[in-house]
Amino acid sequence: MAPLTTAQAEELAELSRDIHRHPELAYQERHALGAIGAFLERHGHRLERGIGGLETAFRTRVGPKDGPAIALLAEYDALPDIGHGCGHNLIAISNVGAFLVAAADAARLEVAVELIGTPAEENGGGKIDLLRKGVFDRTLAALSSHPSGQREWTVSGTGLGVVGKRVTFTGVASHAGSAPEKGRNALNAVVRFFVGIDGWRPQLDGDARVHGYISDGGKAMNVVPARAEAIFGLRAKERGTLDGMVQRFGEIAKGAALLTGTKVEIAEYLPYYEPVKANMALGDVIAGELERHGLRPARGGLVTASTDLGNVSTKLPTDWVRFPVSEKPVPGHSAEMRDACVSDLAHRNAMITAEALGAAAVRLATDRTLRERIAS
Ligand SMILES: [Zn+2]
Repeated sequence: MAPLTTAQAEELAELSRDIHRHPELAYQERHALGAIGAFLERHGHRLERGIGGLETAFRTRVGPKDGPAIALLAEYDALPDIGHGCGHNLIAISNVGAFLVAAADAARLEVAVELIGTPAEENGGGKIDLLRKGVFDRTLAALSSHPSGQREWTVSGTGLGVVGKRVTFTGVASHAGSAPEKGRNALNAVVRFFVGIDGWRPQLDGDARVHGYISDGGKAMNVVPARAEAIFGLRAKERGTLDGMVQRFGEIAKGAALLTGTKVEIAEYLPYYEPVKANMALGDVIAGELERHGLRPARGGLVTASTDLGNVSTKLPTDWVRFPVSEKPVPGHSAEMRDACVSDLAHRNAMITAEALGAAAVRLATDRTLRERIAS
């Protein structure tokens, strides 16, 4: 398999810097889509844009025109305020680069290799939308990547499932000076809810997480707030645990409402991102390709973050590479991580990832026994 040329690597790094300079939120990744699209078209590939009803999703394909495919998944959305603090510019180029590697071997492919652009990983879950619309119905396996603030290379990492909830308390507004007794304070309910969550936290599994913020705490000092709202994330490594947590979370909210004479409503804020299940046989193929680059990736290990790749991983064989972007560990979703994600080291490691993922995709697309092994 042909590695990426120096010119391709430089062009991919420039694409990464371009996406990084133009951070865009979930479902609005128009600049990124434009830049990736122009890049792929320069390299002779046609894009199908807007797949699955998502404006900023796309697909392109090499090998057999029809039939099943091995998929490489690119992400390119950013975070509010911090920009590319999760380094999805690198997920984009490592999978675009992998696709170029596979395209160089197009004539040999028994099944196609696709590059699928999946918007809105940070908020909304674009892969969940695409799954629902059948975009992955003919996908045999999914490969992807994620930059890491740790020093280790990892394949077959698992991840926590997450679900987001919007909790709204409704009370009664009243003059805070002349008639506080007539009010029912919705902010008090939110405060009691947080206290209740804190009391519950020590009972949770070690890896489970509950975290939130007050998104509405009233509007004026002299009015008893009639409406207050908090947004929470709940995470666990097993779906059953998470389901149980969601139930308990609801009971604590009801308790806070009861204490304060308010009403509570819980709505979905973020759809259910399933825990990531890695496919060890697929991971063996990817790890084997990384070893050709002299790396010894760690296998497995729980990433205490969440991704909509989890939903893909419960439907079809999925595995991913986590690659370092910094010599010294940096926290995820931080300004340090953002800056590290356009470093020379980050780009070098993204190219290694691209070559390993591309080579793994070609191996799968040219070896039926291997495809049967990962499917079993
Ligand atoms: Zn991310």
